[in-house]
Amino acid sequence: MSEFSRREFAKLMAGAGVATHFRQPAEPTAWTIGIQVGAVSFVDEGVDPVLDLFQRDADINALFIATFSYGRGIAGRQVPGQPLPDHGKQEYDAEFHGGNFARTREKYYAHTSLKKIEAPDHPGFDVLDSVLPQAQSRRMKVFCWYEDVFRRDLEGIDYLQEVTLSGKKASTLCFHNPEVQAFWQALTEDYVRSYAIDGVMWGSERQGPFGNAIGAMHGGTRADPLEVTCFCDFCQREGKSRGIDVQRAVEGYRKLASLVHDSRAVNRPTDGYFVSYWRLLLEYPEILAWEKLWNDGQQATYANIYQLAKSVRRDIAVGWHIWHNNSFSPFYRAAQDYAEFRKYSDFLKVVMYNNCGGPRLASYVNSVSRTILADLSPEEVLGLTFKMQNYKETSLDELPRSGLSADYVERETRRSVAGVSGAVKIWSGIDIDIPTGRDEKKTEPWDVREAVLAALRGDADGVILSRKYSEMRLANLRAAGEALRR
Ligand SMILES: [Zn+2]
Repeated sequence: MSEFSRREFAKLMAGAGVATHFRQPAEPTAWTIGIQVGAVSFVDEGVDPVLDLFQRDADINALFIATFSYGRGIAGRQVPGQPLPDHGKQEYDAEFHGGNFARTREKYYAHTSLKKIEAPDHPGFDVLDSVLPQAQSRRMKVFCWYEDVFRRDLEGIDYLQEVTLSGKKASTLCFHNPEVQAFWQALTEDYVRSYAIDGVMWGSERQGPFGNAIGAMHGGTRADPLEVTCFCDFCQREGKSRGIDVQRAVEGYRKLASLVHDSRAVNRPTDGYFVSYWRLLLEYPEILAWEKLWNDGQQATYANIYQLAKSVRRDIAVGWHIWHNNSFSPFYRAAQDYAEFRKYSDFLKVVMYNNCGGPRLASYVNSVSRTILADLSPEEVLGLTFKMQNYKETSLDELPRSGLSADYVERETRRSVAGVSGAVKIWSGIDIDIPTGRDEKKTEPWDVREAVLAALRGDADGVILSRKYSEMRLANLRAAGEALRR
């Protein structure tokens, strides 16, 4: 059997009830070539010109339209301070607000206080109504791409917010709050019932309180261990029902916060950093129990969205954007069990952004080498990370400027494909011009070409060019097409 037919066979044999949409063996040429794009690009450049360009330059056959987010990362035009791209409106969206870029039908939102979510950015423009007919006539698939990013000034949102260790309302929403589950169900149902879309992709770039407390992510040095979440009434009730002593959990996290503060102040405990963290976990097993409680809430959200979408339309494809932190933090990777994802996924877009991956990995290393891994130098933490995460790149000094290699993309693709045992499609997330800092790695056409070829070699079912068309330079986009035509 060829490699391809062997994998297709494995898919057919994989768990009943999972991924029925993909039961029919795909043509070997039916690679998904997706691109993430926001409403702003269709407004700025016109629907047909954008779709023409996608097909001509990069053979795009799937659109991941940013239909809901309060973050400009996927739904805005440009991040101020970054170079403007060579297409579209030559200005930054200083006024970006965000929300739902399709129409919102209130009847679906009966069980949540958060319902006034229509994005005011492009009045009267429903991105799905506007793009679907043209996309369908070109046989391009359309996915609603929505993410777990909110702002604080929305009517009714305070009922849904998480509560931090120190007792403050967070800007994030609690997965154990029934209104939050009702919100994601409402939005999903509205999309699946109201539009002839091919699928939905939801993303939640968040982790539990333990990972956040130790700063185990890029940008982690800014994380305040006293503001980790969630300790709201719903979580406390959930904790009690699991037999967790809530007061001990709170006390454990307070001690963890002190340890993090001491570590960052280079106040080395007598027995060293790692031993002290591990000792605290032994003394307070409630810390990891609360971490699991948080993770279970996020996984339940995946399962609920999946079941709801399938209950409306069996043939809808449902999958997830998996956060970049999966490449850096072994603590986070441990919570992303691909075998588990098979229960509620048709596809995974695993983020393998190799260009911005360089500065981001360096940022992760610099953060944990001041907390749980502070016994090691940052360079040693980087070496440890390469061993644990199974890829090998350059030195810490070079990393922000050089980015990660195509070899990293290939390894991460292979690991993902093996993890789902052929039961779920793997679409490698490739970055094009995601902003990085001054003197940090910028995407070049060669990088995109090599990354796409690496995903192919790694046996991906497709690629998703990320994170949004409005910030991509056209030469870089064309490089994706060149790789695919080889
Ligand atoms: Zn909560």
